[in-house]
Amino acid sequence: MKLDHLGIAVKNLDDAIGVYQALGLGVSHRETVETDEVEIAFLPFEGGRFELLEPTGEGSPVARFIQRRGPGLHHIAVAVSDIQRSLDDIRARGLRVIDAKPRPGANGSLVAFIHPEATGGMLLELVQPGEHVGG
Ligand code: ZN
Repeated sequence: MKLDHLGIAVKNLDDAIGVYQALGLGVSHRETVETDEVEIAFLPFEGGRFELLEPTGEGSPVARFIQRRGPGLHHIAVAVSDIQRSLDDIRARGLRVIDAKPRPGANGSLVAFIHPEATGGMLLELVQPGEHVGG
């Protein structure tokens, strides 16, 4: 298990990208993930990436997050090599998950979320990276 990215909920993706560019980071990948109603951008740094998430619809979980808590840290994602096996292990230990089965994420990855209730209040995302690494 290693850090993959930090997910940051933002109100405006272009504005947020401008801030992170001012910090010296660049966008490696940008994509709209229809199933989650978010537009995302990845900005790599040494040892990980920021994932900026702007909701594209009112039904987006990120839209509800921003309504409740305002913009900011939304989730932490760790990379695993076999996401289904990791999920099965986690569920076997009785921890509550949001996704019982992995689903398509950004950049050809598979993702699944562990419920914050199981992790002391932190939304944890498992990521099995896709074919094209580095995005
Ligand atoms: Zn993420």
